[in-house]
Amino acid sequence: MKKIPQRTCVICHLKFDKRDLFRIVSDKSGEIFFDPTGKANGRGAYVCKSEACVDQFLNKNYLERAFKRKVESDVVETVRQQLSEKKQMK
Ligand SMILES: [Zn+2]
Repeated sequence: MKKIPQRTCVICHLKFDKRDLFRIVSDKSGEIFFDPTGKANGRGAYVCKSEACVDQFLNKNYLERAFKRKVESDVVETVRQQLSEKKQMK
């Protein structure tokens, strides 16, 4: 049996299979983006697919605290769009 790695949602702190979480990465160049592969380099944060958690996560202030850097509103919007597209696909 293949074991699926588990990660914790940064908002609700519940554990999920890695593939059931969204991974958001902040890389060295300061970019913040959604990482569908789960393999991108950088500081990653996992958030589960519940509406409430995604909403809370995609908050400029929250992201700035989580990644300890300034986050532009359009970056937040881009990630939000990527996540909502992803949600519709499942
Ligand atoms: Zn959650």
